[in-house]
Amino acid sequence: MRRLVRTHDPRLTVEESEQICRVSVLFNLVAVCFLGFFALIASKTGDRHYALILVGVMTLTLCNIGLFLTFGHMRQLVLTTCLGYLPFCMFLLVSGGQNNTGILWYYVYPIMVYYIAGLRLGALCSGLLIVSAIFLMQLDNQAFFQAHYSSEFKLRFISSMTVMSIMGAMLEHSRSKAQHHLMILAKRLHKAAQTDDLTGLPNRRLLQVILHDQASYAQQTDGDFTILLCDIDHFKSVNDRYGHAVGDQALRHLAQVMETAMRKTDILCRWGGEEFVLVLPDTDTTCGREMADRLRAKVENTPLITTDGETIELTISCGVASCRENKDPDQLFRLADKRLYRAKSTGRNRIVASD
Ligand code: GH3
Ligand code: MG
Ligand code: MG
Repeated sequence: MRRLVRTHDPRLTVEESEQICRVSVLFNLVAVCFLGFFALIASKTGDRHYALILVGVMTLTLCNIGLFLTFGHMRQLVLTTCLGYLPFCMFLLVSGGQNNTGILWYYVYPIMVYYIAGLRLGALCSGLLIVSAIFLMQLDNQAFFQAHYSSEFKLRFISSMTVMSIMGAMLEHSRSKAQHHLMILAKRLHKAAQTDDLTGLPNRRLLQVILHDQASYAQQTDGDFTILLCDIDHFKSVNDRYGHAVGDQALRHLAQVMETAMRKTDILCRWGGEEFVLVLPDTDTTCGREMADRLRAKVENTPLITTDGETIELTISCGVASCRENKDPDQLFRLADKRLYRAKSTGRNRIVASD
């Protein structure tokens, strides 16, 4: 079904559209079975005229399914299903179906239209059905009107249909409202799962995705990208000397300083602890090294002024690795880590971009 839905309702998610189309097709298939079954009964009881009409509606229903399966237009499927059954319902009301029972199918209609067409179109179709029923029931003295309904039946039928339609609208309204809230919640949770709480930067989970995306894009386009793995020097001593709250402040400060130094297309992530990763799309090693050094200098020249007015000087060390050296994102990260380790062991506050 996923492949078949080519145009879906922009107000709905792809999954919701697919679900509605699945239910609509199922509804039409069930309708085909029932129509076939009742056409058979009608032809056996000698009601050939009624049987032919049922076969005609059955054919139209099959065409509706066929059209959707061929072109995949959700709107066509929903509209033809909702509007197509309206005249059929009217026919059942006027003809009475078999022994005046055809009108009972009216009760299926509001539930079906609210589900597949939503609140507005559902209410419109249900309203049309009830108004047309009230109008047609006034014409029961005409020659074409074959069914027989008592006035008590008519009153109770219209009342129960109206209640049913209103209840359907209320249910659909609360369902779509609850779904809207759930969607917002899901989006928030999704964002939270990919964001670092302290700095608001993308976290390690999102970085993995970004790295893999960059790697496959670079492979497809034979492009470049470079990563910088940056670690704050002697950060433990900041915590030890000023406390963890100031340490947290320093991490936020560093994230801001790095953000002001990077380009719009670069992506800064908090890898964990006091380590940050900067992904530089469309950037080769030389450019990456220059960028890393600019960043290092910016951090060195922008000390943190704490809320207590203390000045804390921070420096970072960086390992730089470019995708030209290794196409695999995990190996590339290991290469940057190895270089960061060398930057630390050779004195800190420096960049290492080659072996
Ligand atoms: P080096 O120059 O070798 O990197 O030394 P370092 O002290 O920065 O490295 P080390 O790995 O010994 O210490 C990292 C410290 O970072 C230890 C940990 O308490 C601190 N840290 C990690 N995450 C957080 C955090 O979210 N908040 C604060 N305040 N500190 C953190
Ligand atoms: Mg570290
Ligand atoms: Mg450190």
